[in-house]
Parts: sequence; C-alpha cells; structure tokens
Amino acid sequence: MLQDIERVLLTQEEIAAHVAQLAARLTADYAEKDPVLICVLKGAVNFFKDLVVQLPFHCEYEFVVASSYGGGTQTSGSVQLRKDVFTDLRGRHVVVIEDILDTGLTLDFLVAHLKTKEPASLKICTLLDKPSRRRVELQADYVGVTIPNEFVVGYGLDYNEHYRNLPFIGILKPAVYSHP
Ligand code: 5GP
Repeated sequence: MLQDIERVLLTQEEIAAHVAQLAARLTADYAEKDPVLICVLKGAVNFFKDLVVQLPFHCEYEFVVASSYGGGTQTSGSVQLRKDVFTDLRGRHVVVIEDILDTGLTLDFLVAHLKTKEPASLKICTLLDKPSRRRVELQADYVGVTIPNEFVVGYGLDYNEHYRNLPFIGILKPAVYSHP
C-alpha cells in the first residue's frame, strides 16, 4: 500500500494539530448546546472519532451515508442518500462532520435534506477543503485545512475503497489510476 503513495500531504502530527484546533472551536461554540454531530460515512470516520474525544461536553452521534463518487476519482454529479439519521433533529443544534469538501454537491444535498428536519441550527465542519473545485455556492463553517486540487487518500479517504487505513493523507502515484 505505501509504495502507491507519491507524497504525503499531511502527516499524522499535522492532522492531529488541525483536529485539535477544530475541537477547540467547536468547544467554544457548542459547550452548552448538546449538539447532534453527524458523521458522513465512510470517509469522515477517522476524523470523527479523533474529534469527538476532544469535545468535553454533551453531544450525540449520528451517521449518514451519502455517495456521489461511483468509484475512481471523479464525482458522478448525482448524490444518493444511502442511510439517513434516526435522531429527531427538530430544534436541535446540528453539526455535519465531513472529511473533505470538494465540488460541494454532496454537502449541498445533505444540508438541504437535513434542513427539512427543522434543526435549530445546522453547521458544517470539514477537515479538508478544496475550494478550487466548487460547483455550488457552499462554504463550511469550520475548516481544518485548505488543500490544492489533488486527489488525496488516507485517514478515511479512499480510492476504490482502499487506502482509508493510512494514518496520514497522501497523494497516489499516477500509475495507480492507470492500473487499478
Ligand atoms: P463533493 O460532493 O464535495 O465533490 O465530494 C464529497 C465527497 O467526495 C467526499 O466526502 C469524499 O468522499 C469524496 N472526495 C472528494 N474529493 C476527494 C479526494 O480528493 N479524495 C478522496 N478519496 N475522496 C474525495
């Protein structure tokens, strides 16, 4: 697996520093709000579990599965909700925890869907942001780090369902795409 990586974009230590900063910001804003934190599976799972243990206040977990990537590195453009939340979000403070904001299509769809459940507030927290690729007007309220237009893997992020278990975030060698 490691031989497929061209270079490391964010080391484990760098990721941890960004997660700690986001946890501090969420703590400042949500300490008294008992928010529902919604992890967008599968990609956000590593980020979510590292983030929540640094939040010293009451909160609830939720999980959604949405997919726009049919596989490979390009979005298919149409988003499907494969698993919805079970918690009643009406009147609750909700934070969507996402791995990466790219074209914005996935979160745009998810936010519209979650708003129909009438939360008191709805914010987005993403570890990575690729603003250069945005196709809809959408900004995250909490961003760990803005990255260039590269397809990244590791720390939950996959290529064809692999590489999620890398402890760092890296860029694949082009040969991996041409010989999957
Ligand atoms: P968007 O809908 O904003 O284009 O993309 C959101 C989803 O696409 C992310 O949750 C992630 O699953 C996937 N994605 C976007 N960019 C990347 C990337 O650089 N690497 C990987 N592995 N997945 C990405």
